[in-house]
Amino acid sequence: MTVKIESQIASEEIVIEMNGVNKWFGDFHVLKDINLSVTKGERIVICGPSGSGKSTLIRCINHLEQHQEGIINVNGTLLNESSKNITQIRREVGMVFQQFNLFPHMTILDNLCFAPVWARNMPRAEAEEIALRYLDRVGISEQKDKYPGQLSGGQQQRVAIARSLCMSPSIMLFDEPTSALDPEMIKEVLDVMIELAGTGMTMLCVTHEMSFARSVADRVIFMDEGEIVEENTPDAFFDNPRVDRTQQFLSQIL
Ligand code: ADP
Ligand code: MG
Repeated sequence: MTVKIESQIASEEIVIEMNGVNKWFGDFHVLKDINLSVTKGERIVICGPSGSGKSTLIRCINHLEQHQEGIINVNGTLLNESSKNITQIRREVGMVFQQFNLFPHMTILDNLCFAPVWARNMPRAEAEEIALRYLDRVGISEQKDKYPGQLSGGQQQRVAIARSLCMSPSIMLFDEPTSALDPEMIKEVLDVMIELAGTGMTMLCVTHEMSFARSVADRVIFMDEGEIVEENTPDAFFDNPRVDRTQQFLSQIL
């Protein structure tokens, strides 16, 4: 029995719109005609076999990968070649990766203050205040003067989430945030994500953590071979997958 976290914000405001998005790596058609609308406060879980295009899909949203066809609009800003638009979109979108990507030579506190100070011109004292608030929220404040290598994987991933939140994003993308973690550390990271979901953050999470999907997601999207094959509410998706490929995938992971 899972406890469902209710959406805090019942909204029809669309904050991410992907329309007819196609992408190729050379000859390889990695994203095929992707249509996806995400409303404010919505929590989406994306799953699917390795190589199906999940990372590429979410990386296109903040232009870490470039799509070649179709329209991507984030919070009213069209993602095109304009560096002004790309910068604007990156202000809105935070991302957490499987490998935590912390700066190894900086303390935890410096990791969190770096972008606000250098990219946003925030006074150091203000950046520290915000950083400490988020470190506290993810339960790491007593580790602030350590270096990433001195922390466990689960702690590093919580720091990575806090670091992203310091830039006050309105949308958070997670790309398999628990896949590199030992099993005993997965829960501490999922708990932080669940807490974040409770604040009304718009979240797109690539993950195979099905308990997380069931308790947090408003919608589960299944990708295979570059296509969105099926999408549904978590309960319908897991209990009653409609498409053969989804059934096959679920039988492997559940
Ligand atoms: P997933 O996250 O679902 O495992 P990815 O989006 O990482 O899938 O990759 C989808 C496909 O695109 C895979 O076949 C992968 O090998 C290929 N791919 C990913 N990145 C690149 C790249 N930079 N150049 C060429 N092929 C890539
Ligand atoms: Mg991936």
